Amino acid sequence: MNIKKRSVVRFFSVALLLSAFLAPQNVEAQRKKKNKKSKTETAAPSSKKEKSIKDLTKSSKKIAGLFTMYRDTITGSLQMLISENHLGKDFIHFNQISNGVVDAGRFRGAYGGSKIFKVKKYYNKIEFVSQNTSFYFDPNSAISKSQEANTSEGIMATVKIEAQDEKAGLYLIKADGLFLKETFSQVKPPRFPGASPMAFSLGNLDKTKTKINTIKNYEDNTNLEVEYVYSKPSVLNGGSQALADGRNVSIKVFHSLIAMPDNDYKPRFDDPRVGYFTTQVNDQTATNSVPFKDLVHRWNLVKKDPEAAISEPVKPITWWMENSTPVEWRETIKQGVLEWNKAFEKAGFKNAMVVKMQPDDADWDAGDINYNVLRWTSSPNPPFGGYGPSFVNPKTGEIIGADIMLEYIHFTNRVFYDQLFDLAKADVEFNASEYLQKNTVLCSFGHVMHENTLFGQAVVEAAGGSDLEMARMKKEAMLALIMHEVGHTLGLNHNMKASQLFSPEQLADKAFIEGKCLTGSVMDYAGINLTNDRTKQGQYYDTSVGPYDVWAIQFGYTPFTTEGEKVALLNRSTEPELIFGNDADDMRAPGKAIDPRVMVGDLSNDQIGYSIDRIKLVDSMMNDVKTKFSKTGQSYQELRRAYYLLSRQRATAVNIISRFIGGVYVDRAMIGQKGGTQPFTPVSLPDQKRAMKALTSYAFAPTAFSAPSDLYNDLAMQRRGFGFMRGPEDPKIHQQVLTYQKNVLNHILHYNTLQRITDSELYGNAYNLSRFMTDLNTAIFKADIYGNVNSFRQNLQIAYTNRLIAMLTGKQNSRYSNNAKSMALYNLKQIRTMAAPSGNVSSKAHKDHLRVLIDNALKEIK
Ligand SMILES: [Zn+2]
Repeated sequence: MNIKKRSVVRFFSVALLLSAFLAPQNVEAQRKKKNKKSKTETAAPSSKKEKSIKDLTKSSKKIAGLFTMYRDTITGSLQMLISENHLGKDFIHFNQISNGVVDAGRFRGAYGGSKIFKVKKYYNKIEFVSQNTSFYFDPNSAISKSQEANTSEGIMATVKIEAQDEKAGLYLIKADGLFLKETFSQVKPPRFPGASPMAFSLGNLDKTKTKINTIKNYEDNTNLEVEYVYSKPSVLNGGSQALADGRNVSIKVFHSLIAMPDNDYKPRFDDPRVGYFTTQVNDQTATNSVPFKDLVHRWNLVKKDPEAAISEPVKPITWWMENSTPVEWRETIKQGVLEWNKAFEKAGFKNAMVVKMQPDDADWDAGDINYNVLRWTSSPNPPFGGYGPSFVNPKTGEIIGADIMLEYIHFTNRVFYDQLFDLAKADVEFNASEYLQKNTVLCSFGHVMHENTLFGQAVVEAAGGSDLEMARMKKEAMLALIMHEVGHTLGLNHNMKASQLFSPEQLADKAFIEGKCLTGSVMDYAGINLTNDRTKQGQYYDTSVGPYDVWAIQFGYTPFTTEGEKVALLNRSTEPELIFGNDADDMRAPGKAIDPRVMVGDLSNDQIGYSIDRIKLVDSMMNDVKTKFSKTGQSYQELRRAYYLLSRQRATAVNIISRFIGGVYVDRAMIGQKGGTQPFTPVSLPDQKRAMKALTSYAFAPTAFSAPSDLYNDLAMQRRGFGFMRGPEDPKIHQQVLTYQKNVLNHILHYNTLQRITDSELYGNAYNLSRFMTDLNTAIFKADIYGNVNSFRQNLQIAYTNRLIAMLTGKQNSRYSNNAKSMALYNLKQIRTMAAPSGNVSSKAHKDHLRVLIDNALKEIK
């Protein structure tokens, strides 16, 4: 329902936009027509000569290119030349944000989509019409004659021809209306239903302030930078410090009109066993159950010498390092790009990737689509640590251009979100991931890695490691980040399952891992490799592409001579180092997915064991964090940062463990494929029990998350201005710990997880619902319910009890299966019995509270 509603709203707003755009013009046209008519009635027809293109452009500067432009030298207004050659042909429109503000979700380097449009002539008008590329019809099938049925083109604009040269086949149109409005793409984000009225939002597009800043014309593409200005007379929320004036906000957009590439590029179709970005296409003439002709996004690499096993490409993928790149990092960044050449060699190409330096006096800008640029920014609110978008020809999937955006924050000790470590606000973390989910193209690897590196540095610092050691870690982090973002620009999406490659023992073997990728793929969000025994510490991060990366590049780029070669390559997907699962499969959000191996922040093929080790490392560091991170003469900010870093690593570790409860391993091998199993295999009973035992000790136990009490006295932020006006500055310890525990409960008591436990009992799950729910009750109550219950556990026990009650009577109770509800009721009754009055006054009060909650809830159950 929601989706339907939203698309109606979208349709409505697009219709409004178009009518707003078209209506005044129509009125204007009618008025002119009227004038003309009345004139012809009174004057002789030959007395007024139609103006020529030359007449109308005499005060303009000509900017020749794919679409030749004339810019008036006095008013700056723009006219555009359309030739007969343009008519009926396909062009590509692509846009990216040249500069914006994160507040509005529009930030420098963010790519908009690319789409196909046609230029058509309709009587005395020129139309710009976007094309539908979602469907394929076999031209040999008769049904292809009806291929336009029930699909829609989009007429983006209709513009009157002002003058024409019939002999040369040229038409002149006014172009301001095309570019000073959101004709080709929507710039201002729509307001989502239910968005807070307090949230920052842009005003209305002000066409008197909006202007075209630059025009760059090439033979194959016409590029304009338009500064859209959004204004409103007053604002409730003026946005962040990044905005000089929340009432007038500029969003600068690069528009590119691009000629269809003229080459013999052959599309490659997607396969579920490898992770490429795709353009989805449905074959409407196919009769099978998977009529997918999804186009893999990849570059057009062609061998110079087609006969050679390994050849240089005719045109390599060339990267330009922006001249703003920190000098000390240039070599490492170059190395990160060129690492991919190892993968391309296995696909038959030598020197597929080339890195050049943008000269300091270059006459082109990093936003120029003719250059793929490794860019640098230091934003007030960095939306990413790295971001590697590319844009494609929607008809073929061929990647035409790409950039990599890197944020300077990666080198700093600042944190991405100030609030990230202040989980006093229970929903901060959720909001951050929401933000990233809405911007699905965004890569948050930089965030994850930055946090990991800050933690790693704390470990090295606490262990008295050298500056050299720190520098090595930072270099490895940069290399891994670059390789990851470059991977995106080659068409690869994430592989969150790749961290299964090595065992904890292998990861703690310095010599074994040296020079290797620590995971199957640099496209994972793996945890940092840290050994509790510091003498065993080897590499922290990937320093080379992994086996999956090589194989994926082989699939995308090998010039296969037969279909059989490709099938044979794909059939290797069952080799353990080639396993794959992307963001859609990953379990970072509670209840979302099913395979615990597809997780972020994890490492090794024994995620439970590795996570327990990480928890032990954190707990041992907590004991002396105070002495290691307090520096005479400085404020307590650094110590506070270290405390929250440690706590978060621990929270991540227990989340990873929780995903094994009710987990189901997924195998996407084709039927009969060598090495393949059935698609769904429940996690074994011993592993689920082991996970439950770990959660009992490290997430729910009375002393879980405890820290030396004198540490709490020191968790102070440095005062800045009136920074504490929003709320009291004292650390919210109980709320923080409960948030970590609730995150675990969010998953293991999620209706999807509980439903899956019952369902998977039918196909091999031996840890059935009643066993799990009984163990959970035990984990949360048994240790202390008959005696004194400390304040952390009181908090947890009440929150858990409320959750069981909510399963029966809460707003979402209809989402829970009857089996789950029965067990919730059973557990509540058990708690009611266990919570008899005992212990000290505080514990008695707590148990009274539990009993009253349960008694009242039982009355409500019908
Ligand atoms: Zn990524």
